[in-house]
Amino acid sequence: MKVLVINSGSSSIKYQLLDTDTEAVMVSGLVERIGEAQGDLKAKNFPGTDNQAVVEIQQPIPDHTTGMRLAIELLTDAKNGVLKDKSEIGAVGHRVVHGGEDFHKSVIIDDEVLAAIEANVPLAPLHNPANLDGIRVAMELFPGVSQVAVFDTAFHQTIPSHAYMYALPYELYEQDRVRRYGFHGTSHKFVASEMATIAKKPVEEMNIITVHLGNGGSITAVEKGKSVDTTMGMTPLEGLVMGTRSGDVDPAIHTFLARNKGMDIEAIDTMLNKQSGLKGLCGMNDMRDIHDAIEKGDERAKIALDVQCYRNKKYIGAYMAVLGCVDAIVFTAGIGENDDIVRRDSLKGLECLGVKIDEKINAQRAKEPLLISTVDSNVAVWVIPTNEELAIARETREVLN
Ligand code: ADP
Repeated sequence: MKVLVINSGSSSIKYQLLDTDTEAVMVSGLVERIGEAQGDLKAKNFPGTDNQAVVEIQQPIPDHTTGMRLAIELLTDAKNGVLKDKSEIGAVGHRVVHGGEDFHKSVIIDDEVLAAIEANVPLAPLHNPANLDGIRVAMELFPGVSQVAVFDTAFHQTIPSHAYMYALPYELYEQDRVRRYGFHGTSHKFVASEMATIAKKPVEEMNIITVHLGNGGSITAVEKGKSVDTTMGMTPLEGLVMGTRSGDVDPAIHTFLARNKGMDIEAIDTMLNKQSGLKGLCGMNDMRDIHDAIEKGDERAKIALDVQCYRNKKYIGAYMAVLGCVDAIVFTAGIGENDDIVRRDSLKGLECLGVKIDEKINAQRAKEPLLISTVDSNVAVWVIPTNEELAIARETREVLN
C-alpha cells in the first residue's frame, strides 16, 4: 500500500510517500514559508521510482490547501510525478503532536477524533491547529481515503500517575489536565522496537532507555515495551538542554524574572523556548558549530556541551533507577546518531553502573544500527537511526489492518 505521511507545521508541510510493502520512500518533500510573500516547495524522488527528479518550486503559497495541492500535483505530474493518479494512495498518515489523555494509540480520523484534537489545542496551541489544517486539507483532497492520526503523546500514555503528576494543586490536573504527557513518542517507540528486533527478543521482554537527541531532545524509560517515564512534560520544554530550549529550570526563576527584570509572561516564554538551551549558553544551537568553536578555544561552547551532556547523564542514571535492570541504551536523532562526543560524555562515569562504551567503535560513523558498548558492558549501548515517517507509515498500515 502507498501511504502519504504528512507532518503539518504552522508555516510548513513535511511529507513523504512510502510504499509500506517494501518500506521504501518514493518521494520526500517539504513545503515552506506558507503565508509569506514567496513560498517554497522542494521534493525529491527516490531510486526505485521511475523518475528520480529533484524539484524546487518557488511561488506564493498563501495557505496549507495551496501547499498540499501543489505537492499532490507534483506527485502525479506528467514530467516529475511518480504516480499516474492520486487514487494510488491507499491512506494518509498524519503526525499529530498532542493527543492529551484521549489517545493511547493511533486512530482512524473521524468527526469525534477531529473534535478531540481540537479540544487538546490549549495543550499545544502552536502545533495542534497546524496539524488540524493538514488533516482537513488531506480530507478534502482525498475524499474517501482513510486518514490516520499518529500522536507524539500516545506512546507515553502508559506512564503511571506517580511519574506523570506534578506536585501542584490537584484541581489543576482535574480541571485543566496539567500533567506530564511527553513527546517524540513515535521515535521512542520506533527505536525501542528496532532494538528488540536487533536483539531478537520481544520488546515486552526488554528494558530500554531511549535517548532522542535532535534539535529537541528527550529520554524515555521503556519498561517491557511501555513508556514508564520521559523527560518532556506537559509541553516539550521540560527535561534536557536542547538547541534553543532550556529544559529543566527552577520554576521560581519565572517569578524572579518578572519581579526583578520586569519581563512579562510572553517574554519569559520566548526566552525559555527560543533563546535558551545551547543557544542561550553559547550563542549557537547546532552541535557541529559548537564542536568547531570548542576546537578554536571557545569556553562558553565547552560549557554548553558539558551542561547538555551532564543533564543527559543525570536522566540516564535516573532511568536506570526507574527501570532497575536495563538491557540497552539507544541513542538516536541528529545528535544521538552523529555525535560520538555527546554520546561518550553523556555516559561518562557510568561504568560502575555497568555501562561501558568502546571509544573506537563509538567514533565510527554508520547509517546502520551500531553497537558501541564493550563486550563486558552489562548494558548494551546502541546507535539506532530513527525514522519517524516510516514509523507513521507503519502505524497507519497497522491501524487499517
Ligand atoms: P529535529 O529535532 O529538528 O528533527 P534532528 O534530529 O534532525 O532535529 O537533529 C538536528 C540536530 O542534529 C542539529 O541541530 C545538529 O545539532 C545535530 N547534528 C546533525 N548532524 C550532526 C553531526 N554530524 N554532528 C553533530 N551534530 C549533528
